[in-house]
Amino acid sequence: MRSFVFNGQPSRVVFGAGSLQHLEREVQQLGASRALVLCTPEQQPLAEVIAQRLGARAAGVYPKAVMHVPVETAQAAIAEAQRLNADCALAVGGGSTTGLGKAIALQSGLPILAIPTTYAGSEMTPIWGMTENGLKKTGRDARVLPRTVIYDPELTVSLPTGLTVTSGMNAIAHAAEGLYAQDSNPVMDLMAEEGIRALASALPKLRANPADIDARGDALYGAWLCGSVLGNVGMALHHKLCHTLGGTLNLPHAEAHTVVLPHAIAFNAAAAPDAMKKIARALGSADAALGLHRLAKDNGAPVALRELGMQEADIDRVAQIAVQNPYWNPRPIVPEALPALRDLLQRAWEGAAPIH
Ligand code: NAD
Repeated sequence: MRSFVFNGQPSRVVFGAGSLQHLEREVQQLGASRALVLCTPEQQPLAEVIAQRLGARAAGVYPKAVMHVPVETAQAAIAEAQRLNADCALAVGGGSTTGLGKAIALQSGLPILAIPTTYAGSEMTPIWGMTENGLKKTGRDARVLPRTVIYDPELTVSLPTGLTVTSGMNAIAHAAEGLYAQDSNPVMDLMAEEGIRALASALPKLRANPADIDARGDALYGAWLCGSVLGNVGMALHHKLCHTLGGTLNLPHAEAHTVVLPHAIAFNAAAAPDAMKKIARALGSADAALGLHRLAKDNGAPVALRELGMQEADIDRVAQIAVQNPYWNPRPIVPEALPALRDLLQRAWEGAAPIH
């Protein structure tokens, strides 16, 4: 058995179809009496229902969450939480909404109760992100890890099929990179493999029937496991590339993850054979990278960066950024790797199958 360090993250998870019924109990358990309900403008109706259910325990609804947490949005939300004397940030939505809750918690120390409605996994991590003048800053802080997470698959039935598949691939990316992380450990490996398995089996069922509540449950369970991996171990080349594609080129988050993942995995295949075996086994495929490519393609997800609006001329810039400040990666990201990185991005841009 290898040596490792494992840090348990102190969050409480309430899981199951209909588990929103435990909302009042969970708010009470946090000792909160004035929860500020955060959401995107599109999810305001759901947030209003939640606020109504909480009655006097809700301080109000703040429906202004947007992607990548612009610093102005964060400041306005922090001011609103102070004005309303809120004692809890209740984030109902995807990673953008959880991210806004984290910005409030980072500044004020308010506890977060998260009710995730996508598979992005932010609710399981102590990682915050904020964007200022087009640059995304991220950091880790124990205060931003949600204290309670209610996972209710019923709230994900409305997630459009396209986003269901790409958000699921986004979750799988956390687990896949966690399997070759420098600081990986056997517990996270178990969660990662099981998370990939749960999502890979659920996505085709959800494409066929988005209201399949058992498959919604499997997908959300997978998202929980994959998000836990993201919160516990370091990420590598794939996340670096997606961070650049999102932060610098403003490509959509889940879709960019979906396109890049098979290629990043192929790039690392020879350097991380054990991780490849586990990914392939979880996908039920002979090859990890090809299995991921097929999972996306067969379920109607984009497989080309050009479909997401990226210009071919940007390939060089993204490759340069990835080499300049690399994350640790099983295949070293050294200047000599630049041609192979460009090739990876070229294939991802064109929508070619991954090769290794
Ligand atoms: P999102 O939160 O931006 O949501 C995308 C869209 O889907 C929004 O319009 C939202 O209102 C809508 N939506 C969400 N759930 C829905 C549902 N059930 N039904 C109908 N519509 C629904 O997208 P995301 O992919 O969840 O989050 C992406 C953001 O999260 C990025 O900014 C990313 O950087 C961040 N993120 C952070 C972490 C972290 O650990 N800090 C982890 C993962 C993602």
